[in-house]
Amino acid sequence: MTAPVRFAVIGRPLAHSLSALIHQEAFRRLGMPATYERIEMDPGSVAAFLDRAAREGFRGLNVTIPLKEEALGAARTVSAEARDIGAANVLSFDGEAWRAHNTDARAFRSTLPKGIEAALVLGAGGAGRACIFALCQDRRRVFVSARSTARARRVAAAFGVEMVPWEDRHAAVRDVDLVVNATPVGTHGEGSPLDTLEGATERLVLYDLVYRPPVTPFLAMGAAGGFETVGGAAMLAAQAALSWGPWFGVTGPKAFFEARLRRQLKTEGE
Ligand code: NAP
Repeated sequence: MTAPVRFAVIGRPLAHSLSALIHQEAFRRLGMPATYERIEMDPGSVAAFLDRAAREGFRGLNVTIPLKEEALGAARTVSAEARDIGAANVLSFDGEAWRAHNTDARAFRSTLPKGIEAALVLGAGGAGRACIFALCQDRRRVFVSARSTARARRVAAAFGVEMVPWEDRHAAVRDVDLVVNATPVGTHGEGSPLDTLEGATERLVLYDLVYRPPVTPFLAMGAAGGFETVGGAAMLAAQAALSWGPWFGVTGPKAFFEARLRRQLKTEGE
């Protein structure tokens, strides 16, 4: 009997990640001879892991916080999209080498509300880069703010967008109709990257990439102010479905992923 093909999500921490749950269940339901694991690793470990991963049976990986930029450099080849974004959230083994891809930007773009003209992205890591890339594709005005000014400045320069110092981010909310939380703040229901929405336009949409819990303090603040809110689960389902492209040559079962995430997050909220 041949061993099942192995897939995994790599990053740290992974306690919040629901990637394993949705991929594993889809593999099982579709009768695919494949497994999906969670593998925690520190920054600086990706290249060494990839060196042995194919020998150990891995054929595909999702990459999450904080390894998306490192994963891009560790892969032998890189898709044009991942190169332009500067981060990889998917790796595939083509039989000879690992290739880096990015499905975050397309997933984010597909879940964006219509009519957005200007956006403030909080966070300048791998996910922040993907969101900024997607927003720039549609020629929106984009501001980026991150607690590390040097990192925010690098990202602003890479995409030709405006950098807002972290201490000035609340004032910048007044100039946009979308704020994206691309930091992990709010995971496990703790903390918000903004303390107030004072002065915001009534059209403001709050989009949180964090999906667990589904209503983070950031989104709760938006809802309390009567603003539209979008949680991260729809993007997770979309990027998971797109991950199957590099791995299997087909899009994964997005509707199944969405329903499974909804059920899981509802159960946890009860
Ligand atoms: P990352 O590359 O490590 O970047 C995280 C960014 O957040 C960095 O700018 C970091 O600043 C900042 N940050 C971290 N902790 C912070 C804090 N306590 N206060 C303020 N800023 C803080 O991570 P990532 O891959 O971009 O992921 C970011 C978040 O998005 C994660 O929670 C991830 O799970 C989520 N995500 C969700 C989806 C989805 O499909 N829903 C997709 C992608 C990512 P420093 O550089 O100073 O550390």
